[in-house]
Amino acid sequence: SIMPATLSAISNSARNGVLFKGGMHLENLAHIQAIAFDKTGTLTKGEPEVTDVWFRDSLKPQSVLSVAKAIEEQSNHPLAKAIVTYTNQYEPTPLSIQQTRDIPGKGVKADIDDETWMVGNAEIASPDESVAAYAEKLASEGKTIVFVANSKETVGLFALKDTVRPEAKKLISRLQKNNIYTLMLTGDNPTTAKSIAEEAGIDHYVAECLPQDKVNELQSLRKRYTQIAMVGDGVNDAPALATANVGIAMGEGTDVALETADLVLMKNDLSRLTDSITISHRMNKIV
Ligand code: ADP
Ligand code: MG
Repeated sequence: SIMPATLSAISNSARNGVLFKGGMHLENLAHIQAIAFDKTGTLTKGEPEVTDVWFRDSLKPQSVLSVAKAIEEQSNHPLAKAIVTYTNQYEPTPLSIQQTRDIPGKGVKADIDDETWMVGNAEIASPDESVAAYAEKLASEGKTIVFVANSKETVGLFALKDTVRPEAKKLISRLQKNNIYTLMLTGDNPTTAKSIAEEAGIDHYVAECLPQDKVNELQSLRKRYTQIAMVGDGVNDAPALATANVGIAMGEGTDVALETADLVLMKNDLSRLTDSITISHRMNKIV
């Protein structure tokens, strides 16, 4: 049966915007030694905006904008939504897509007429050296790069900037003061990851993580720390949330993340996590 102290701590937390799915998780939270964070939608707001564009044929950007819109309309990734919004300003031509394939953590492939198009990271677009160098410069400013390529070459590029949540930095520094190891796990490239990690004040990061890589990173973290937590919002974070001792979902995250997690930060507010850790310590002293 649930202890009165646990019950009151759970209801206090709920009033404070943190929903625990059981007393056990509140107890576990008090013993957390390391916390891993997803980047997009967790440490950042997950509302990227297009800041820079480049087109190989600078006189005819229309065809690239039309292809990007047609393909990204099929995706519900936050980057895709931002790209569609951007292209809409330029009245792109509607194109009919024959087939789209999601490449998780990398982008989307699609056939339009007789051409196969790639919209996504460097791994699926393989930009040439000069385009890659330009992309690297943009990435060092914390921007995520999305290339548009066909079977022959990269024909366009979008750079998108997301905002680090204002409360993220404070949370990270409070965790560090409590000797909790902090880590960022992201599908984004190393240069962008480094810049965002610095902005949030997080010491360690692992870039180019596919969903299974996030699980692997947590498993190796568990060899060094007995109790670990993971904070995430996406479908791609669900396996990692299930692997951690305490899985924490952002309240506006995807359904799968909310279902898998042990506790939910209801208003997407990271600062509530520090209060919950304090509550969990206090409760464990009483119990
Ligand atoms: P994160 O872990 O930061 O939430 P994801 O795993 O969702 O990142 O995506 C990793 C990378 O894959 C993105 O940074 C982007 O380069 C590429 N990508 C994924 N989906 C898309 C898409 N629909 N359009 C363009 N690029 C995409
Ligand atoms: Mg995310």
